[in-house]
Amino acid sequence: MFDVPESKRNVLGKVEATVTVSLYGNETEHKVIKKSDGEYCESCENEAQSWCRNFECRLFLCKTCSKSHKTMLPPHTVLPMATIRQVSSSFFKMSKNCKQHPFESLVLFCGQHDKMICDSCQLESHQNCKPIISSIKAANGVKDGTAMSCLEIRMNDLNQVSEKMLSQIEEKQKTLKESQNKFKNRVSEFKHKLVDRLNKLEADIHTDIDSKYEQCNETLTTKRTSLHASATSMTSWKSDLKSLKQNTSEIHLFQSVKFIERETNETESEIRKLQKEPFPTITFLPSVLESKMDKMLLDLGTINIENLSVPMPELNIDQEGQYLVSGIASAKQYIWIKNQRRTLIKVDINGTIQSTIKTTFDPLDICANKEGDVYYTNGEKVHVVTLDGKEREINKKGIEGIAVDDRGDVYVAEKTSNNIHKLFNNNQKPGIVMIVDDGVYRPISLSFKKRNKRTVSFKQRSCVYQHL
Ligand SMILES: [Zn+2]
Ligand SMILES: [Zn+2]
Ligand SMILES: [Zn+2]
Ligand SMILES: [Zn+2]
Repeated sequence: MFDVPESKRNVLGKVEATVTVSLYGNETEHKVIKKSDGEYCESCENEAQSWCRNFECRLFLCKTCSKSHKTMLPPHTVLPMATIRQVSSSFFKMSKNCKQHPFESLVLFCGQHDKMICDSCQLESHQNCKPIISSIKAANGVKDGTAMSCLEIRMNDLNQVSEKMLSQIEEKQKTLKESQNKFKNRVSEFKHKLVDRLNKLEADIHTDIDSKYEQCNETLTTKRTSLHASATSMTSWKSDLKSLKQNTSEIHLFQSVKFIERETNETESEIRKLQKEPFPTITFLPSVLESKMDKMLLDLGTINIENLSVPMPELNIDQEGQYLVSGIASAKQYIWIKNQRRTLIKVDINGTIQSTIKTTFDPLDICANKEGDVYYTNGEKVHVVTLDGKEREINKKGIEGIAVDDRGDVYVAEKTSNNIHKLFNNNQKPGIVMIVDDGVYRPISLSFKKRNKRTVSFKQRSCVYQHL
């Protein structure tokens, strides 16, 4: 679409170009300039020395260009680089133009989408949005406004909470590390116990094997000795008988035969007895653990991840920037708190309860003036309880928020009509002070502040704040 000269391409070869319209010189000339990263002037590409904060400019400028901005009518405010460098550069790189429509400035603010938009955006996608106000009007008083202080409080709150969470997580990581070592040691201990047990079992069975071996061996040795003796006797008698047969008288031989016969009978019965006796031996039945070790000793324990819910420090503000605490008002040295249904208590600065006010209905929002009159609403009606304890109704419908100023005038935000009414203390006729065109859209609460100027702020879903 736009021709980017070779010299304007950055070192990575990526073309980063935005279109800016030259403010001076040839008004119709559309310059294509590389969006500065803060090092170069966005008008002439000399070294940047300053930044023009004018809404139409918002440019990094060199010394020469900055002079021409300072001498414009009215003069532009140009900030030195030292001031700029105190802030993250991304804030100065934010384009003043619409992302969807690069030729158009973000001149409008859509309250419904809580977003800065351009004229084309409004026509294309915010036709029915309410309220649409000028960006300048939306930004008016932002420095001292509740939007800013609300954001600051939220960020402080988030900061504190995340710091607390951080230390909690660090603590948890320490405990986790301790658990890791503890469980490892526990498993090693168990393994050592197992090894000790195995050593003991091994020693036991060795003793048993030795003892049973001895028992069997003794029996076999006895048998051997007995057989050995028989064999020796037999050999000796055989040779004796052979000799006697040749040399002795018949009667002597007969007597000898009878003797050997008896001895042989005894030896025979001894051998028969030995034949019947079993031969002892040792056998081994392996432990069931040996074949089924994998099944019987599955593991040395199991480790699991358990997700514990840890009580975290609570955020004081919800996502829409509304305080979770409600039903509290203060004026002078007293504080009014809604602590029960249909009950307000008046507490002094020391926390001592001064009085208890029974209300006609449950207060949704309360406020008090400096005289000590308390106004409260349930979203439909506004009632006031005066210092003397008398209660009366102030007629209004669809009330969402109430506030009272330093003069005792009461402001009420009407959600249904998108109006903010002022009810005068001196019985002057009530009047509407802000309407939908002022950016009021379904307001949810009101507050009065007196700092440099007297302001009434309203808060709505998209967290927009305006000042009277
Ligand atoms: Zn320049
Ligand atoms: Zn300028
Ligand atoms: Zn746009
Ligand atoms: Zn919109």
